[in-house]
Amino acid sequence: MTQPKTLREASCADDYDPESMPVATARTLIRTFLSPVTATERVHIRQALSRVLAAPVVSPLDVPGHDNSAMDGYALRFADLAPDRQTTLARVGESFAGRPSTARVGAGQCVRIFTGAVMPDGADSVVMQERTSEDGEGVHIFAGAIVKAGQNRRLAGEDMKTGAVVFDAGQPVRAAELGMMASLGINEVTVYRRLRVAFFSTGDELKSIGTPLGSGDVYDSNRYTIYGMLTRLDCELIDMGVVPDVPEDLERAFATAAEAADVVITSGGVSVGEADFVKQLLGKLGEVLFWKIAMKPGRPLAYGRIGGAHFFGLPGNPVSVMVTFYQFVRDALLLLQGQRDVAPVPTFKVPLAAPIRKAPGRTEFQRAILAPDGAGGWTVRTTGDQGSGILSSMSRANCFVVLPPEVASCAIGDLVDVQLLEGLI
Ligand code: AMP
Ligand code: MG
Repeated sequence: MTQPKTLREASCADDYDPESMPVATARTLIRTFLSPVTATERVHIRQALSRVLAAPVVSPLDVPGHDNSAMDGYALRFADLAPDRQTTLARVGESFAGRPSTARVGAGQCVRIFTGAVMPDGADSVVMQERTSEDGEGVHIFAGAIVKAGQNRRLAGEDMKTGAVVFDAGQPVRAAELGMMASLGINEVTVYRRLRVAFFSTGDELKSIGTPLGSGDVYDSNRYTIYGMLTRLDCELIDMGVVPDVPEDLERAFATAAEAADVVITSGGVSVGEADFVKQLLGKLGEVLFWKIAMKPGRPLAYGRIGGAHFFGLPGNPVSVMVTFYQFVRDALLLLQGQRDVAPVPTFKVPLAAPIRKAPGRTEFQRAILAPDGAGGWTVRTTGDQGSGILSSMSRANCFVVLPPEVASCAIGDLVDVQLLEGLI
């Protein structure tokens, strides 16, 4: 698909089919309309965790700051060592990590040294203590203990040089980046401001927790899964509660949300039976496309703009909400937060421990459990019933099995694509 400039242009492209939109096409199309927030702020590095750097981080230091030893042993001059027999040197000092030696190593001398300790003046190499012995006569360095000058010596700046770019703008800050910045003595960094995300649930049958259920009512759970998923992404949240299927109420809610937020997320109200008046409403307030994604679960999805805000209209079924969030919204939010090069969630192949029934035609995201196979490998099985209202299966799962449209039922031992639900950092 060539890059559309407007949603209308996109919806007129030859290969655009709102009745059967492939997952990858929808994802690519959404990406073309995303541009990251531009406002930035300076924060202490602790507050930068889970945020995105808005300016490059440049090293103010050499790391390590001094030449130092990679071993416990003796610092010496390589030229003093006889290549084919033991050499005896006089010990003239000790260099500990954090407590350098003041001694200078002259000809025939050495300094006892420990890992991380500063190299004493005059020495160019370190011999590990296992290749030496020490007695009243001095320190004996075994023949061939080292073979070239500079061995076991870490050079100042070999990890990072003063002025080098440590991180580019667009880098997400995780535990490793925090540690790196601390190692450089950096207190504060420039990050993009948080994304403001407004969200609400739609449906006459929905009740908020803390209120009694009437006949046919259900508790609104989507607002809580969405809250959880958005919190993991460190967004600023505007929880707008439940909005009944009443056009005036919905119109007010959409307008308020779009005014207050960068992104508006709703659940429910986009299925065939309900979409018509929502469509009309959103046609009035903005430009929104309604799709039937060729996936299961999560078939209906709306994407577009309401005023200055991006809009994601997720299906109402609790599992569909999570699947469509992970497949479409998460990536989009990462890009809007300023992350560059947002890679797709990695998938890898794992053999099935139990067969899966599937009809070809759609991408299926089945909730599944990845577990050791007892022989050093891994195996995956689904959580069982895959109904899109069965939220407990999402809780029991630690991964999705992703079955592409062309795949039909799978047998034990077939290799299937797995996407992990948990990330390490
Ligand atoms: P809809 O997409 O609005 O037709 O809803 C599809 C199904 O999901 C219906 O069974 C709804 O009751 C249910 N549902 C919709 N929204 C929520 C919600 N916020 N929490 C729990 N279930 C919901
Ligand atoms: Mg509904």
